[in-house]
Amino acid sequence: LIDKGQAEHSVITTCAYCGVGCSFRAEMKGQDIVRMVPNKDGHANHGHSCVKGRFAIGYATHPDRITTPMIRAKISDPWRVVSWDEAVAHVASEFKRLQGKYGKHAIGGITSSRCTNEETYLVQKLVRAGFGNNNVDTCARVCHSPTGYGLKATLGESAGTQDFDSIRATDVVLVIGANPTDAHPVFGSQMKQRLRAGAKLIVIDPRRIDLVRTPHIKADYHLRLSPGTNVAVLDTLAHVIVTEGLVDEAFVAQRCEPEAFAKWRAFVSQEKYSPEAMESVTGVPADVVRGAARLYATGGNGAIYYGLGVTEHAQGSTSVMAIANLAMATGNIGREGVGVNPLRGQNNVQGSCDMGSFPHEFPGYRHVSDTTVRQSFEEAWGVPLLGEPGLRIPNMFEAALDGSFKGLYIEGEDIAQSDPDTQHVTAALTAMECIVVQDLFLNETAKFAHVFLPGSSFLEKDGTFTNAERRMSLVRKVMEPKGGYADWEITQLLANAMGYPMNYTHASQILDEIARLTPTFHGVSFEKIEALGSVQWPCNDEHPLGTPVMHVDEFVRGKGRFMLTEYVPTTEKASSEHPLILTTGRILSQYNVGAQTRRTANVMWHDEDRLEIHSHDAEERGITDGDWVGIVSRSGETVLRAVVSERMQPGVVYTTFHFPGSGANVITTENSDWATNCPEYKVTAVQVTRVTQP
Ligand code: SF4
Repeated sequence: LIDKGQAEHSVITTCAYCGVGCSFRAEMKGQDIVRMVPNKDGHANHGHSCVKGRFAIGYATHPDRITTPMIRAKISDPWRVVSWDEAVAHVASEFKRLQGKYGKHAIGGITSSRCTNEETYLVQKLVRAGFGNNNVDTCARVCHSPTGYGLKATLGESAGTQDFDSIRATDVVLVIGANPTDAHPVFGSQMKQRLRAGAKLIVIDPRRIDLVRTPHIKADYHLRLSPGTNVAVLDTLAHVIVTEGLVDEAFVAQRCEPEAFAKWRAFVSQEKYSPEAMESVTGVPADVVRGAARLYATGGNGAIYYGLGVTEHAQGSTSVMAIANLAMATGNIGREGVGVNPLRGQNNVQGSCDMGSFPHEFPGYRHVSDTTVRQSFEEAWGVPLLGEPGLRIPNMFEAALDGSFKGLYIEGEDIAQSDPDTQHVTAALTAMECIVVQDLFLNETAKFAHVFLPGSSFLEKDGTFTNAERRMSLVRKVMEPKGGYADWEITQLLANAMGYPMNYTHASQILDEIARLTPTFHGVSFEKIEALGSVQWPCNDEHPLGTPVMHVDEFVRGKGRFMLTEYVPTTEKASSEHPLILTTGRILSQYNVGAQTRRTANVMWHDEDRLEIHSHDAEERGITDGDWVGIVSRSGETVLRAVVSERMQPGVVYTTFHFPGSGANVITTENSDWATNCPEYKVTAVQVTRVTQP
């Protein structure tokens, strides 16, 4: 364990792993962290923590850290260490050359949910004002972009409705496509506390996650659906609620658009959405769906928590809207104990979306075509801005392959490992002429880069993160940046070299600018967050101390809007060639592509991704526990070790994606959400066979 004796001073900061956003006291001895102590005054964690936040910080000082800028003419050349001045001048000159030769839309930028709000804001400002286009996107594209779309369309705001503590007043917890005990451990514990105290539990998940049966907790209903049928299940729940007269008519009449509700009522009443009719599609017995629907609608305060098992589908946005429909129909929104709550995977998914890093939106989710909003940014930034959305990440890849997109600035995101259909991604990266990777390590994407700029860990900078409950907390510098600069300072250097001046001297000035330009954040500042400990947005004149629960008297959009959520089966289907469906998830000790946790010895008790397979499917293939298995999809193939497990249902296999060697994304497909292009990571048809050790 990391323990270097007596601390000399301590600094309160925020965990940089998951979207719970736990507060920690970093106890320091000079530039060394002696230990990380969970902060008992932390509003999201109340003194609790998980193994990652407490112990998995060794990556920040790992010898793999690259601390000097490097450039190379071709990706087959060796890297050449250069000064910051040379690296920044080279990037600016290359980007200008590409824009001169191919047009101003030939370059773009990708931000990361790992970075602070201020850093994300600055990248989108660099792209919009410095590059002169809207080709900016974020890694939230591949996780929670459907949340933004679905909640905005129905409720009017692209964010969760509640604070975590709200669960203390919940009577029925509905968890769909999320595994909080592994992926959001501190909130998962809070949830378990409430369940042990008597709250009822509905789990909708193809896999038997821990919550389904764990000491003193047993789910009242586990809807073990076939992967890809979330919308069908949600519509059958709605069907039961409507046809059995369980709608909260008073709430709907007062709070929702009547015409949209009438259409939705007729839509979900159709016989094709009855649990009996849908049983063969979803695989969930009709009586289980009926029981779950009755419990959610009549069991008291019902709160829905969901994760990437909802969003990472071809109908991810539709599922989010179907969830919001259920909450509105039952009046489970706008007070303590209820609501619709996306569990954000990374520390700053919420913030990275809030800060305008999607190609179609300025900070605060305002469309770039809105002339009034655009003018306010033009006045503040001193340049004309474009009113048409730019390229999303998948569009950038397409444009690279057709020869019109040539340069990319990537801050803190390993797209070569984390985006689906690796072969497609790497072909696109290879087709570009100048890729700039700003990161801690030479990651998979850096193999295709022409410039590497050493980024900074969360321990090396000031700023803010926004967690899954819209809570903005301070990130504080506890040690000097290993490469010399915080990430926002590097973006500023690039902007100045490109000819667009930026002159911030501290991250708080960036937050002040965000607050000035974005009504949701008008009342936010470093000083206020410091004084209050944290602030949940909206924070402005109307809500000077922030907003734990949204949509209390009316929805952000005025009246809530029911959306029709037609179930459309995914095109990815099991076949004789690929008879099993692969789905993916996380484990507690590892984190995303593992860049940090793999470099922290004290949480390395899982050292490889494995394939969970049901005993029936394993036996059929002569596979026993620990065997090596080949997994083949229509996109590619990989080899993993098998775990024979009754957690899976027959016909469905499961793996994690924490280790680059195993390449889960080599086999995932190019399918994506119809509204946002969020990849369909959760449904891949595969064949699995026993192989000899690779
Ligand atoms: Fe960090 Fe999430 Fe663990 Fe809290 S629950 S310590 S935020 S990884």
